[in-house]
Amino acid sequence: MIFKKNISSLHVPHNKNTADSVPVFVSAPKEVVLPMNMQSGHDAEPVVAVGDHVYVGQLVAREEGRASSPIHASVSGTVTKIAPVKLAGGKEALAIHIENDGKMEKDPEMKAPTVTNLDEFLDAVRASGVVGLGGAAFPVWAKLEAVRRNEIETILVNGAECEPYITSDHRMMMDRSDLVVKGVKLMQEHMKVPKIVIAIENNKQDAIDKLTELFKDDPSVEIYPLETVYPQGAKQVLLYNVTGKVVKGGQRMAALGVLIINVSSVAKLADYIENGMPLVDRIVTVDGSAVKEPRNFIVPIGTPISHLLKEVELKSEPGKVLIGGPMLGHAITDLDSPVIKATNAILAFEEKDSVTAEPTACIRCGRCMDNCPVGLNIAGIGRAMAKKDEDERAEALTKLGLKQCIECACCSYVCPAHRPVLERNLEAKSFLRKYNAAKKEEGRK
Ligand code: SF4
Ligand code: SF4
Repeated sequence: MIFKKNISSLHVPHNKNTADSVPVFVSAPKEVVLPMNMQSGHDAEPVVAVGDHVYVGQLVAREEGRASSPIHASVSGTVTKIAPVKLAGGKEALAIHIENDGKMEKDPEMKAPTVTNLDEFLDAVRASGVVGLGGAAFPVWAKLEAVRRNEIETILVNGAECEPYITSDHRMMMDRSDLVVKGVKLMQEHMKVPKIVIAIENNKQDAIDKLTELFKDDPSVEIYPLETVYPQGAKQVLLYNVTGKVVKGGQRMAALGVLIINVSSVAKLADYIENGMPLVDRIVTVDGSAVKEPRNFIVPIGTPISHLLKEVELKSEPGKVLIGGPMLGHAITDLDSPVIKATNAILAFEEKDSVTAEPTACIRCGRCMDNCPVGLNIAGIGRAMAKKDEDERAEALTKLGLKQCIECACCSYVCPAHRPVLERNLEAKSFLRKYNAAKKEEGRK
């Protein structure tokens, strides 16, 4: 991997139109839909049945298998259906449907967990249902558990929020800085990690100032202003730009003595440990050229995206709706698909801003490679993918370090020929994954 001094270098328009929008509770949706695969690990397993009454914060699905996470009711009401739904990304998943009774009654049995040591802390994080809220959705307990097996020197709290438009982490740092502070103190107390760094892009100077003030008496916490360049918040980029360390493809951050956790996740785990409230809602930015008044909302998990779009005035019928940011988000085909734990933004664009340019021939300008933060030989990947022989193709892709691709989309963004460079890389990664799995299977026989 060839690193530059600062390995994120792409200046994209920030469009942080909602930076000053204090999140307000969205009006009550009639129904919430809770998919069992809201975390990046195994699907959760329902523990309620159709007809059951549930309260806000009540466990409705337990974690199942490795790197799973429990799911809790985000409204009070009645379970009406447990059936597959189509998600915004196109996948299907089993989901619990809850008809909202409009009372938002909290689980009467809800109480803050007892946390006096590392075991109890990790158990509480596990029970909180908190996952990576910046988009990765990896269960936070599974990440923090690495402290049992590795010498962790630094926890890097990711407040970069480098994707255009999105301001949900920014508002969490501004409006619930109390929870961010509590979360940091809980990690310090129970994980005994000597250093905590909160990294924030310098287009959020108010958040940098606020947290600097709040931690001014604690030398073990550093507020680290980052240059505002994309993809500063990608974990490999953040790791390098803050610590100078380089993580190899397939290597765990923990092996380098570092854990990276999203700032909103830190706040949410504190909310559970302090108040017993598991992850049932999150801040979602609603913006885009089709939205008259972009805003931030506090949204019960499972709320239909169409409900959120009704909350903001639209200028016209959107030509495209994205879940997530314009660099890494997915276009939504079904507007009734639900907000899930990792949904940080819904962006609706006018027809004129939704046209995808037709790709033309590569002009070999090299811009994709110049802007790749991990210095991949993108042209080489293209040549490797053209190889007919699968063994040769796999060997070439491996040699080129394809695994290092962080899927940031900088290559596609800068391509003057509008070539789907990222998509080709994803195809190559999928081929290599399947090829390696098949070889492993063959080796077992
Ligand atoms: S998506 Fe493109 S620019 Fe980003 S790391 Fe992969 S090859 Fe490089
Ligand atoms: S940026 Fe686009 S046109 Fe230029 S070399 Fe890369 S793929 Fe070809």
